[in-house]
Amino acid sequence: MKIARTINEVRAGVAGARASGKTVGFVPTMGAFHAGHLSLMRRAGEACGFVVVSLFVNPTQFNEQSDLAAYPRHEALDAKMAAAEGVDVLFAPEVREIYPEGDATTVEVRGLTDVLEGASRGAGHFRGVTTVVCKLFNIVQPDVAFFGQKDAQQALVVQRMARDLHVPARIEVCPTVREADGLAMSSRNVRLGADDRVRALALRAGLAAAEACVEAGERDPAAVERAGAAAMRARGVDPEYLAVVSAESLGPIRPLAGRVLVAVAARVGPVRLIDNVILDVSNS
Ligand code: AMP
Repeated sequence: MKIARTINEVRAGVAGARASGKTVGFVPTMGAFHAGHLSLMRRAGEACGFVVVSLFVNPTQFNEQSDLAAYPRHEALDAKMAAAEGVDVLFAPEVREIYPEGDATTVEVRGLTDVLEGASRGAGHFRGVTTVVCKLFNIVQPDVAFFGQKDAQQALVVQRMARDLHVPARIEVCPTVREADGLAMSSRNVRLGADDRVRALALRAGLAAAEACVEAGERDPAAVERAGAAAMRARGVDPEYLAVVSAESLGPIRPLAGRVLVAVAARVGPVRLIDNVILDVSNS
């Protein structure tokens, strides 16, 4: 596996792969790899002949400086894990390589970014995400890019950006990988103390309660949201939001029908966690 620091090195690697007829898969990440990241790399390896992974803690998508400062970084270990997954190029650039002096251009998806994470973290968060993903797409020029369902809204926003800007890559969304007890894997989980690690299960419990409520026949989203939030509070966690919305538009649906996203965010100790589940709601 090659570790690339510059755009030119990535482009040279990708050009070589293309010259030998390989398709190019791309997995953008912020590092501190866990099994969720590795599942995306594995999937990319199955689908494509050449795999590029980026490791870049993107400063523009952090709305809290303390979160950026505390974000776990261990590139040497990450490089070992990526190599073991058969990754061809790990692109780990400096900030200046991605945001050159005088950088003045951003990419913004309207509408989809107004709700959930966009409402909680502010418009700058998704602007940071779409701007960096657009830059990375232009650098790597993948055939397929792989994102996690764990960040459901991010995957939708990136798909919309790719469609609207005619990005010639397919976006594939891969299932959320969880710990044995159901906690969604996240690079931020390492910052949870022992008590907070237990309380973090409230997110999964809230989603499960919302799902059970729908399964019992409830079709009013507000009632489902109340049931989910109550289950979280019973475990000592106050949700920032627990929202039941269309899995395609992220808009309201009442009564619930079709593909429904239940998305949750909550602060647990020093960490802000998110999780979600998609339900197929029948009309009967
Ligand atoms: P991050 O490094 O947190 O920016 O995540 C990089 C990619 O990995 C994103 O597409 C995430 O959605 C995905 N990802 C993060 N956590 C998980 C998980 N538990 N399961 C599957 N994918 C994940």
